[in-house]
Amino acid sequence: MEVIRTSNSILEKVRLPIGKGEPFSFEVKRDDLIHSVISGNKWRKLKYNILQVEHRKNQGVLTFGGPYSNHLIATAKATNIAGLKSIGIVRGDELNNESNATLRHCAELGMQLVFISRSEYRSKDEPAYLKNLHSQYPNFFIVPEGGRNYYGVIGCQEILTETNNDYDHVYLAGGTGTTGAGLLLGSKPNTKIHVVSALKGDFLRNETKQLLYLVLNDSEMVELYMDRLLVHNDSHFGGYAKVPLELTDYINSVYHRSALKLDPIYTSKAFYKMEEDYNSGLILNGEKVIFIHTGGLQGAEPWSSKIDFL
Ligand SMILES: *Cc1c(COP(=O)(O)O)cnc(C)c1O
Repeated sequence: MEVIRTSNSILEKVRLPIGKGEPFSFEVKRDDLIHSVISGNKWRKLKYNILQVEHRKNQGVLTFGGPYSNHLIATAKATNIAGLKSIGIVRGDELNNESNATLRHCAELGMQLVFISRSEYRSKDEPAYLKNLHSQYPNFFIVPEGGRNYYGVIGCQEILTETNNDYDHVYLAGGTGTTGAGLLLGSKPNTKIHVVSALKGDFLRNETKQLLYLVLNDSEMVELYMDRLLVHNDSHFGGYAKVPLELTDYINSVYHRSALKLDPIYTSKAFYKMEEDYNSGLILNGEKVIFIHTGGLQGAEPWSSKIDFL
């Protein structure tokens, strides 16, 4: 059976030319190399969820996602490898198994896709809705959209254990904040965690706080960790999956300067913010910086004509 190895996630030292003077030096945690389909933080978030399914002797995982969801395809593949079933509740009742490459691939991996309206999808975290789903699919372990639960956070705590864990700044992209919460819990008390939101709006700080509470169960402890969290809501480039030309130009620029391949939904926005913070002096000379490459290239297909390496 195929195995999923986090040892594929190497630590890469990068020297990024920035035009003037010395290049910007930092490390990159290449979680994008963990698996070609279960890329980046998606395996981190699924690992302990899948273990729960096995412990409970459930048949499989039921989870949620949009039509290009990295989480959905990762779940389809990871459950397939583990010999489990999967059900994907997809946002958009106009869609079907053939609507795009992500959905087609999910279906080929054996995921049962259920297409629901946008308004129904908004109920996806409501207890009454979940209770109903549970009675419809009693033998499935329900995982929230994006792997946003306790087990997801616990899995993301492990990322920095595969490094020296002695950084001043950690930069990563955020959607639900699950990965950021795990990194906060798994880092040293002097490390700042910078979560750069891929979405418009000011909710990620509060979402992260709720996730920390799931693990810590103590408001004062949560506040202690929150002091080291910097949420950046100003680098979303117009919002989720908007992808202006300025962003694909930036992806190409990073590729030509460092050979790193960033995706247009998440990682490129976080990388942009990190470079901006270096150029504006918010990252001090000599400080140790790591960028967490959370993957995501699977979802870049619609923009392939504008990205040089696709
Ligand atoms: C899903 C995803 C994220 C968001 O992670 P959260 O834990 O939901 O904040 C970031 N980067 C990539 C590439 C992703 O696919």
